[in-house]
Amino acid sequence: MTPTANTPEGIRVTVLGSGTCVPSLVRSSCSVLMRVGEKQLVFDAGPGTMRRLLEAGTDIYHIDYLLLSHFHPDHSAELVPLLFATQYPDAHRRRTRLTVIGGPGLKHFFESLVAVYGHWIQLAEDKIDFLELEDRPGNAFDEAGFRITVAPMVHNPESLAYRVETPSGASVVYSGDTDYADRLVTLSRRAGLLICESAVPDEKKIPGHLTPALAGRIASEAAVQRLMLTHFYPACDHVDIAAQCRRRYQGPLLLAEDLMTVRVA
Ligand SMILES: [Zn+2]
Ligand SMILES: [Zn+2]
Repeated sequence: MTPTANTPEGIRVTVLGSGTCVPSLVRSSCSVLMRVGEKQLVFDAGPGTMRRLLEAGTDIYHIDYLLLSHFHPDHSAELVPLLFATQYPDAHRRRTRLTVIGGPGLKHFFESLVAVYGHWIQLAEDKIDFLELEDRPGNAFDEAGFRITVAPMVHNPESLAYRVETPSGASVVYSGDTDYADRLVTLSRRAGLLICESAVPDEKKIPGHLTPALAGRIASEAAVQRLMLTHFYPACDHVDIAAQCRRRYQGPLLLAEDLMTVRVA
């Protein structure tokens, strides 16, 4: 199987960035690539995402969806260079439309960037689309081959977690940033994989973020099949993250590393 081959009816997840805003040679800022059939979805685009896409065997011209969990720079700042690089030097390298998805305020967020960067980041209408999703009944996004549902998180007003599900039942949830949230438990119910932020160790808990044990509690309450912890601040490198998570969760556990790939059937 080549690095870019797709998993039929499943979801192939590649961590592009398992880090934070803190500069690191091993952990790029937040981003996750999911390949579903022929489609490529990128969740969050922190600084370094374009380079990690190349390392993952693809590039910015061949991603179909960019889904932002919220607008903090470590999750969204690569949007500007990504749009600029899509236009210059050769706008023909992107042949299909890029759909940017986010929570309430996404269009205003982009218009504010245009107020600064102007036409340098404005793509032709047939090359880009913005879609704001909210937690309303039936407010799912359906594409041939998968469905996306969302839930608001406890972090920023626009914060969303995303669930991707295929007709065959493969499912992956991406938490974005959040504090403990019942809605994340509901969204993650029996998911094949929950990719959950675990920004700081248990003893350094800060408002608006999870810890390994809290992420484990959510995974247990949701009865997910597998849990991946990510979004590690450097303090996480000095403690046993897995052991902290094990206080509340006994199932299969992964600690994200950049370019780690997981298949979800
Ligand atoms: Zn944040
Ligand atoms: Zn963050």
